[in-house]
Amino acid sequence: MARERRKLSAEEREQKAKEKREAELAKWVPKTELGKKVLAGTITSMDEIVKGNKPVLEAEIIDYLMPMEEKMIELKKTTRVVRAGRKFSFRVSVLVGNKNGFVGIGTAKDLEKWPAVRKATRKAKLNLVKVRRGCGSWECTCGTGHSVPFKVSGKNASVRISFLPAPKGTGRVAGEAVKDVLKFAGVNDVWTKVAGATDTRLNFVKAAINALEQTNKMKVSDEIGKKSKREA
Ligand SMILES: [Zn+2]
Repeated sequence: MARERRKLSAEEREQKAKEKREAELAKWVPKTELGKKVLAGTITSMDEIVKGNKPVLEAEIIDYLMPMEEKMIELKKTTRVVRAGRKFSFRVSVLVGNKNGFVGIGTAKDLEKWPAVRKATRKAKLNLVKVRRGCGSWECTCGTGHSVPFKVSGKNASVRISFLPAPKGTGRVAGEAVKDVLKFAGVNDVWTKVAGATDTRLNFVKAAINALEQTNKMKVSDEIGKKSKREA
């Protein structure tokens, strides 16, 4: 019973946050050229922005182009002893993703919790990683983007993570924090290899994002390389 009540209030909070975001978006006055183009409808997708290689400096651009899910990954209350006594502040990390190829993490500090969450969310949106998805599994070869196109590895602090292509229906074989990243990025089937099990949740998240980022950076075979050059 108690569990149900908590769940409901979380949903209500989410709904309220969504309404607030929409209200804020309605009042948006873009400050950058890119923002103006997005609001005017000249640019209609994140892929156009990625292709144009223009930096996104306004989080509203992201909100406008694609609905993002947000999740608090870490909340730390820090205490500093000053002459007048003790001073508290919050350090918050938020994961964002559109469940369709874009994922990001942001960390921010503030004297209060919710401003810290807002700042971290904004940072995460301005720090998105595009994830190239594919089906690198020789057991599957369906050609759709349900997994990673090839094995990728990433690291953060002592954490090392590798994602390996898996056939459709495998699911996200990973620990909870890494699962969140895969879910937010829209990668459905993947095997995971992890080292550094004693590290923090945040470092697992960052290592996972770092690994997913490699789907764009890793050398591809000449054939695929030529093909993607032709497309560009
Ligand atoms: Zn497949």
